[in-house]
Amino acid sequence: MNGKVIILSAPSGTGKSTIISRIISDPALRLGFSVSATSRAPRGEEVDGREYYFISNDEFHRRADRGEFVEWEEVYPGTCYGTLRSEVERVTADGHNLIMDIDVKGGVNVKNCYGDEALSIFILPPSLEELERRLRGRATDGEETILKRLAKAEYELGFAPRYDRQVINDDIERAAGEVASIIREFINK
Ligand code: 5GP
Repeated sequence: MNGKVIILSAPSGTGKSTIISRIISDPALRLGFSVSATSRAPRGEEVDGREYYFISNDEFHRRADRGEFVEWEEVYPGTCYGTLRSEVERVTADGHNLIMDIDVKGGVNVKNCYGDEALSIFILPPSLEELERRLRGRATDGEETILKRLAKAEYELGFAPRYDRQVINDDIERAAGEVASIIREFINK
């Protein structure tokens, strides 16, 4: 592989996607976003092939059986997410560094798999109360989904110490800047 691997994980609602969108086109970082496949339906303004490749549950499992994924997880009961081998190739072929937005189990697995070629960063909310406020403000999810995501957040936060670096998203501008400088230091090492 030509590029390096950057793993970003965080509980849902922590601002991870916003951070990625702020740093993705920084020319100094040479990042390419790893578009995952998922069996969930598109949310809000999401576009197939941009945020995710949206596929059915059946197709997801067919492709998993054929070994098409570098890693995949059933992140929520009945809903799978995974990184396609073809996607890693697509992004890194010309030397771009692959940035992956993946769940905590996938993050720890990918870090173990790529070792020093990968950098794992965990984004933390300032507090669980603040996370709940942000999830409620998002308005794209129903109450049941919000409660499910909050319950999961506590479990996910337990994985933070297993990441190379931890960044608190207390202010989006500051946090995005910190993530960018951590990545810059890593790729220039
Ligand atoms: P969401 O439905 O909010 O977009 O994402 C739910 C969770 O799935 C997030 O924690 C996200 O990081 C994770 N996720 C997205 N793509 C992948 C992937 O390819 N592999 C794994 N293991 N998790 C993923």
